[in-house]
Amino acid sequence: MRIGFGYDSHRFLSEGDAAKPLVLGGVAFDGERGLKAHSDGDVVIHAVIDALLGAAALGDIGSHFPDSDEKWRGADSARLLSEVMREIGLAGYTVGNLDVTIICERPKIGPRREEVRSRLASLLGISVSQVSVKGKTNEKMDDVGAGLGIEVHAVALLQ
Ligand code: MG
Repeated sequence: MRIGFGYDSHRFLSEGDAAKPLVLGGVAFDGERGLKAHSDGDVVIHAVIDALLGAAALGDIGSHFPDSDEKWRGADSARLLSEVMREIGLAGYTVGNLDVTIICERPKIGPRREEVRSRLASLLGISVSQVSVKGKTNEKMDDVGAGLGIEVHAVALLQ
């Protein structure tokens, strides 16, 4: 068994930026401001990818999908995760479980938690019971607490 940890954070788009939907764990949060990013800005999937790659010691999201590469502009992060799952499989691993913590003042994660769990489980090809998603605020502390962005921590176990 091997354990991996992943972290990511993204700022919300500013007023003047071109609008982009907010997508967390492959689930669209309609009516919420999107995140600044080269890709679709799915900060949850980015942290999950780094947890998986970390467990397998296969580098990180930046080495696989460099943001200097135009190929990944606006990329659907679910597609990147599928690509990573293929590599994890080729290396002989299956996912034991995934635990994700999303930190933001908004949106509220609780009401959408089950959708995010289901979506991540299907992208990883595991059951919902193997995926945990937790949402919390930063108690108004620091920039995340001021509502400037979203931070995500993820832990994955590979077998
Ligand atoms: Mg990212």
